[in-house]
Amino acid sequence: GREVHLASRPVGEPVAGDFALVEVEVPAPGPGQVLVRNRWMSVDPYMRGRMRDVPSYVPPYAVGDVLTGGAVGEVVASRADGLAEGDLVLHGGGWREWWVGDADRATRLDVPAGVSPSAFLGVLGMTGLTAYAGLVEVAALRPGDAVFVAGASGAVGSVAGQLARLKGASRVVGSAGSPEKVRWLVDELGLDAAFDHHDGPALEQLRRVAPDGVDVCFDNVGGAQLEAALRVLRPHGRVALCGAISTYNDESGGDPVHGLGLAVGKRLTLRGFIVGDHEHLRPRFLEEVGGWLADGALRVRETVHEGIERAPEAFIGLFTGAGGGGKVLVRL
Ligand code: NDP
Repeated sequence: GREVHLASRPVGEPVAGDFALVEVEVPAPGPGQVLVRNRWMSVDPYMRGRMRDVPSYVPPYAVGDVLTGGAVGEVVASRADGLAEGDLVLHGGGWREWWVGDADRATRLDVPAGVSPSAFLGVLGMTGLTAYAGLVEVAALRPGDAVFVAGASGAVGSVAGQLARLKGASRVVGSAGSPEKVRWLVDELGLDAAFDHHDGPALEQLRRVAPDGVDVCFDNVGGAQLEAALRVLRPHGRVALCGAISTYNDESGGDPVHGLGLAVGKRLTLRGFIVGDHEHLRPRFLEEVGGWLADGALRVRETVHEGIERAPEAFIGLFTGAGGGGKVLVRL
């Protein structure tokens, strides 16, 4: 089977040469283990942080080793109780065609009718829970709040924007990276307004779509868009610091955000969070978001790349905004 290895640590924008496609022998599963044929692999911005050899909330990848990531696959051999051949499982052994591992590191999936198993890597999985936790718990969204989602076209942002609307926000605005994505946010996802961040200074654009300010910012982008948000936030506003993708390729450790002093006078709350700390929300999240997905209230998009050899390109595309938006996946 083939797997994707980190060939070298990227400097700045990741490039194809930072990755290597390697053929490996697939071991037979030992006692308590399963052999899984991966079908879907998750492509996530946080993996960029793990390519850097610095201490963080997850250990760095080793050069020459497989890039692990989220995956959904089918059990093809099992030596474990509780998992049988044909079961679909969610696990962390992605970026390879085959995974052999302990059964207790895989979660058996009950995929509802009409839902793609890939949803468990996106809207019903890690990125969906991130949107839910960030909005409900971290930003403590209240009905009537006006909300700005920075990076509203992505896996997390596209769910966050819709959830804000479904949970009673008075106005939801967002940013995205192309005119088509902006139209999608407004025409299909139901945001009140959106802007293309390539169209001019973020502050000017945010003021145009949120002339009366916002109470909540869900930030996936950092940098200039976060700075603009600090300026348009109303007193006592809350910011869920989810990610800062505009800074991930910045070798100086991220551009400083100006305007933080505004947080004092406006009594703002800025709170960073990591989805793994909000596991207790999962049952509520699955019930609520699963329900909205089933009845069509929530729309999702996927950008799907075919074949493991396209994983590096899919990852590089996260930082150029390639693809149509929504959750980025590789189908095997
Ligand atoms: P996305 O799908 O949002 O990431 C890719 C998109 O980001 C691109 O398509 C592009 O969209 C946008 N983008 C890329 N570079 C820039 C830039 N320089 N400026 C503005 N936008 C840019 O990924 P996810 O939804 O998976 O993740 C969103 C954010 O949430 C990331 O920052 C990620 O690290 C973070 N995250 C945090 C978690 C946590 O626990 N805190 C968990 C999961 C994710 P466009 O073309 O519209 O600009």
